[in-house]
Amino acid sequence: MHFSLSNAPEREASQFLGFAGNVIDRQSEKRSDDSARLALAEPGARLLLIGAGRLVLDFSTGAASPYFTVAAAEAIGIQPDAAILLGRADDVAMLAVPVAVEPETLPEHLKAVDFRSILTQGLIDGAGLGAMAQGAALLAWHATHRFCGRCGGPTEMRAGGYKRRCTSCGAEHFPRTDPVAIMLTVSGDRCLMGRGRHFAPGVYSALAGFIEPGETIEAAVRRETLEESGIRLGRVVYHSSQPWPFPYSLMIGCYGEALNEDIVPDTAELEDCRWFSRAEVLQMLDGTHPGELRVPPPHAIAHQLIHAWAKTLNEIPD
Ligand SMILES: [Zn+2]
Repeated sequence: MHFSLSNAPEREASQFLGFAGNVIDRQSEKRSDDSARLALAEPGARLLLIGAGRLVLDFSTGAASPYFTVAAAEAIGIQPDAAILLGRADDVAMLAVPVAVEPETLPEHLKAVDFRSILTQGLIDGAGLGAMAQGAALLAWHATHRFCGRCGGPTEMRAGGYKRRCTSCGAEHFPRTDPVAIMLTVSGDRCLMGRGRHFAPGVYSALAGFIEPGETIEAAVRRETLEESGIRLGRVVYHSSQPWPFPYSLMIGCYGEALNEDIVPDTAELEDCRWFSRAEVLQMLDGTHPGELRVPPPHAIAHQLIHAWAKTLNEIPD
């Protein structure tokens, strides 16, 4: 199939992934240095309260809500000066603010829930998950960049949270996103999956690794696959991407075409690595595998790569 923009799918694969449903208009061209302070003064402003890898949820109406008014947030004990402006949704200012969370001291209708549980338990909708990913990644960056990497002087937030500026030498520092390649290697009717040492029992997944400075996505996919499995790749094609706020990664999902089949696993990283037939992968997806093997859950990019290959792809697309 020849690619052209006119026949590219309108429903991009990325939109099916957890944390990908962000609907906030970031208004990146309008980020003045006092934009977060001005937004906090808007009566309708909505705040996400984030601390120690957790998001505070309000259960007072039954369902979990991740949004707080300024007054409600102040009652819980936020630091308004540390608020960052995410952007606007439905013309309402959306902010994220760090909160010192002592889960046991929160009132009964509030719960501070870790990001992963919020995702896996489906506690909030896709727009809320997307806002959480944006806020969590930015606040994590701020928390670890309080001093200038050039001169060591203290830095201050600017541009509503999208920049820090050194108070000593004036250097400007910008939020980072760390790209991670995650790839499903395919050989005919089989795919390659591995088991990391920390994986839940029975789970096999696509291989993954950080993209290094000076590397293309394709080169990183080929290098990581060779290092972890001994498999050399020919063609590499992009499939989808997923914001992953642990703390500020972007997962970049690809397929790779295997050039050899003899696996030499990296036993320091992997407990096991082997080929799986499409029939076996379909059982793992459907929960009917006789050995109770399975793949990661649907919100994970690995699941979508594996699912798309097992159910639809007969070959790697051009
Ligand atoms: Zn400096």
